[in-house]
Amino acid sequence: MHIACLDLEGVLIPEIWIEFADRTRIPELRATTRDVPDYDVLMRQRLRILNEHKLGLPDIQAVISEMRPLDGAEEFMDWLRERFQVVILSDTYYEFALPLMRQLGYPTLMCHKLGVDRNGKVVDYHLRQPDQKRRAVKAFHSLNFRVVAAGDSYNDTNMLAEADAGILFCPPDNVISEFPQFPVTRNYDELRQAFARAAEKFQQAALPA
Ligand SMILES: [Mg+2]
Repeated sequence: MHIACLDLEGVLIPEIWIEFADRTRIPELRATTRDVPDYDVLMRQRLRILNEHKLGLPDIQAVISEMRPLDGAEEFMDWLRERFQVVILSDTYYEFALPLMRQLGYPTLMCHKLGVDRNGKVVDYHLRQPDQKRRAVKAFHSLNFRVVAAGDSYNDTNMLAEADAGILFCPPDNVISEFPQFPVTRNYDELRQAFARAAEKFQQAALPA
């Protein structure tokens, strides 16, 4: 059995901060690392805005629980689970992702953690470790697993490069041109085919010549 490592936002669910900004009508929360390249500055800004709007974790989770996975994501996960051990490697936070995980059948999720005080106020964030997506793939390799990884953005490219096969899913044009080595898929059918092709290659490589 091989391992499939999937990015979460942009692959199975919408971008959480952007959806959240739209649903709460707080446009400042739409900022991403494209607008504020320093992740720590961006996260401090997000936490400040949440606190200014008096949004604690229960409010945030109430909004997120109304979000839905992307169309076709649940069927894709059902297909993938029968063929791979599925692990989600994400740069989101458990507190945000859990309401959505219910809808995806609670796959294994490795992501970061928020610091929340007893009143539900989000006061801090804790990254699991730097470059965790790539390091998780490395760890699976050390356990003798083959890994196929799929993601949509810059923060996935280290994971894709570390994997035995890396696949881009609905990526922005700049990622496509900067990383031409990864096949591009634009819907779940194409993604299924790319995973199936990778598994086939592993099988051929394992056969005696
Ligand atoms: Mg993503």
